[in-house]
Amino acid sequence: MPWSWRKLLAIHPLVRNHFWHSLGNGQNTFAWHDTWATCCPIIDIVTHRMIKEAGFESHSKVVEIIENGSWRLPSFWDNRILNTNVPLLQEHMMDSIKWCTDAGVLHDFSVSLAWEDLRVREPLVDWYHILSCPLCSTQPDSHTHLFFDCPFSSRVWDEVNKIAGLSLYGGSWADVLHDLKKIARKNFVHSVVSKLILAGAVYNIWQERNNRLFNQSKRSEDKLIQIIVSTTRLKLMTLRFKNNSRTEAALSHWKLPSSLLIPT
Ligand SMILES: [Zn+2]
Repeated sequence: MPWSWRKLLAIHPLVRNHFWHSLGNGQNTFAWHDTWATCCPIIDIVTHRMIKEAGFESHSKVVEIIENGSWRLPSFWDNRILNTNVPLLQEHMMDSIKWCTDAGVLHDFSVSLAWEDLRVREPLVDWYHILSCPLCSTQPDSHTHLFFDCPFSSRVWDEVNKIAGLSLYGGSWADVLHDLKKIARKNFVHSVVSKLILAGAVYNIWQERNNRLFNQSKRSEDKLIQIIVSTTRLKLMTLRFKNNSRTEAALSHWKLPSSLLIPT
C-alpha cells in the first residue's frame, strides 16, 4: 500500500469504509482489519482473544485463513463470517486497493474521486484539511500546486534563488527545470549551485508538507530558506572547482575558502 494511503487510513477512520481490498493472492490484505468482503472488518465481529485462540495473529493475512478453498476458521464463529463466500485467491496476482463509492461501485483510488464522494455526504472540516495544501491552507493539495502555485513554496523558492544569486532563472520552477536540462551534465559552479538549490528546495518543501500533514510539526518559510541555503553551502564545501573568474565570484558569494579551488 502506498505510504500516503496508509497515513490517510491511520488519521481518518471516516474514509476507512471506502477502501476496498480487491484480493489477488491475499498476501497483503489484513484478514481482520481490512475490508475485503461484506462481513468486514471482521474485527468488529470477533475479539482479539478469539483470534489468538483460533491460532492466528492480529496481523494475519487473508491467505492464512483460507485452505483448499475453505475457511480455516472455528466452526462456532459468527455465521456472517462463515457464510461469506470463500474468495478465490490467485497466486500470481497482487492484492489491490480500490475506492468504494457510496453507491458501492469500485474504482481505482484517486483523490478527486474520494473528494467528490466525501464532500457531499461528510462536509467535515477535518477531511477538507487533509486535502487542502498544508503549507498555505487555501488550495487543494496537489504536486502542481505545491511546486508551481503555492504562495509558501514560491516565497521559499524566490528567496533561496535570490540568496544563491540565481536571478538569471527568473524565479519560476518551470523555467528552472527547463534550463537545468540544458546544463545538467555540466560542472560549472553555477550549474552545481542550481542543482543543489533545486534539490534542497524540492526536498525541504515536500518534507515540510508531510510533517505538517502527519506529524503536526511546522517550520516557517524563513526557517526552510535558512536550511536550504546552509545545506547547499555545506555541500559546496565538499566539492572542488576549477579556478576561473566565475568560480572565484561564486566562492566569495558563498563565503567559501579559496582552498576549494583546484590549483592550476
Ligand atoms: Zn499551498
